[in-house]
Amino acid sequence: MAERDFETLVIGGGAAGIAAARHLQLSGVKCAIVEARPRLGGRAWTIADTSGYALDLGCGWLHSADRNPWVAVAEEQRRTIDKTPPPWARASLPYGFQEDEQKEFRKAQEEFFARISERAQREPDVPAAALFAAGCRWNNLIGAIGTYISGAELDRVSARDFDNFGETGVNWRIVEGYGATIAKYGESVPAILDCPVQRIDHHGKRLKIETSRGTLVADQAIVTLPTSILAEAEQLFAPALPEKTQAARGLPLGLADKLFLSLEDAEEFEKDCRLFGATDRTATATYHLRPFGRPQIEVYFGGDLPAHLEAGGTSAFFDFAVSELTGKLGNNFARRIAPIRIHCWGADPFAGGSYSFALPGMANSRMTLAAPVDNRLFFAGEACSHGDFSTAHGGWITGITAADQAIRALRKNVARPGE
Ligand SMILES: Cc1cc2nc3c(=O)[nH]c(=O)nc-3n(C[C@H](O)[C@H](O)[C@H](O)COP(=O)(O)OP(=O)(O)OC[C@H]3O[C@@H](n4cnc5c(N)ncnc54)[C@H](O)[C@@H]3O)c2cc1C
Repeated sequence: MAERDFETLVIGGGAAGIAAARHLQLSGVKCAIVEARPRLGGRAWTIADTSGYALDLGCGWLHSADRNPWVAVAEEQRRTIDKTPPPWARASLPYGFQEDEQKEFRKAQEEFFARISERAQREPDVPAAALFAAGCRWNNLIGAIGTYISGAELDRVSARDFDNFGETGVNWRIVEGYGATIAKYGESVPAILDCPVQRIDHHGKRLKIETSRGTLVADQAIVTLPTSILAEAEQLFAPALPEKTQAARGLPLGLADKLFLSLEDAEEFEKDCRLFGATDRTATATYHLRPFGRPQIEVYFGGDLPAHLEAGGTSAFFDFAVSELTGKLGNNFARRIAPIRIHCWGADPFAGGSYSFALPGMANSRMTLAAPVDNRLFFAGEACSHGDFSTAHGGWITGITAADQAIRALRKNVARPGE
């Protein structure tokens, strides 16, 4: 680590940190990313499987693609953007879920979302699950979808925050990987990898950033750490910033894990179709068959279910998927599938979960988390976003906002030397 003195250090090299650092760099600020992992991208992470397919273990969908800034980055990098409508916007496979039932379910789900919107801004905030219709047969399946959206059961999720999430309904994918695109965008920024930050000392005129590889000095820092880390690390800031710790605790990371399976004789199924493991319980996975037309299944687990399965590793996830799939498609189906890869985001020491949700009554914590401190500690990351939280483009937007705040603060100090 030759260089130790910077104008701005960006702590964490995920979507938010990368967007912030590139913006600073393009504005001529002497900056660097300090990242705990040996790679950039954070919860955006693409790997190649043995067939050479790019698998997104973290974010995969360019949500709100018609206003998502990562689309332009993907285009600049000459990536292949797949605009096939997502499986959740189309009818599911009819095994145990006939067309008329699907229609009834969609209506019940729309009514649930409408009740959330109607209630969301009234006091007091309530758990989203409080707005289930009493006795509705589809509550468990709506709850399962809630676990994919929020990473948590809806009795833990703020109705107001859930409603604040804004999306345009346009969802695209990048064939070569969303994670690969985000990481590549960060390549030109100086980055200190394998370097967990342990303490941000803001007692003095300049910041001292203590890391596992020594102390760095900077005028300002943009902190993009996941809320799971901020909530636990009471000693991270010196002096302590209890309002940040409290805000982070109100915005825990929910859990979503993806298991990739290989599928023999895949052509039996239509490209990009979906199957629910069960329609009468919340602890169920959703199966995306032939993503991009590949001979694979992408299995999505959300909430308490993956939290429980992570203890048993890949085999626990695989066994669960086999039992659900054979329940729908017959016992012989087990011979056609094999596990390729899963990443357990809950057990990941630098993530501790997948994406943030607000506890009931805590939706305003997003603003508290995002607020600068002393005009030299700035905050970004998906959890800081009012309406695009839980997404990689939310990371981008908060990263750019924090970088703009940092640039303004630097220019103000240059304009008034000696202050
Ligand atoms: C399974 C899954 C599916 C998802 N699907 C989608 C999707 O389809 N579309 C979408 O938009 N979003 C999706 N997301 C969410 C999306 O990946 C995240 O919201 C986004 O990547 C978060 O970016 P960030 O920069 O805020 O945080 P992070 O990516 O977590 O970046 C923070 C960085 O800080 C680093 N760090 C942690 N501790 C330290 C330390 N002490 N010192 C230094 N560095 C540290 C971390 O390693 C990390 O690189 C998904 C996430 C998961 C896990």
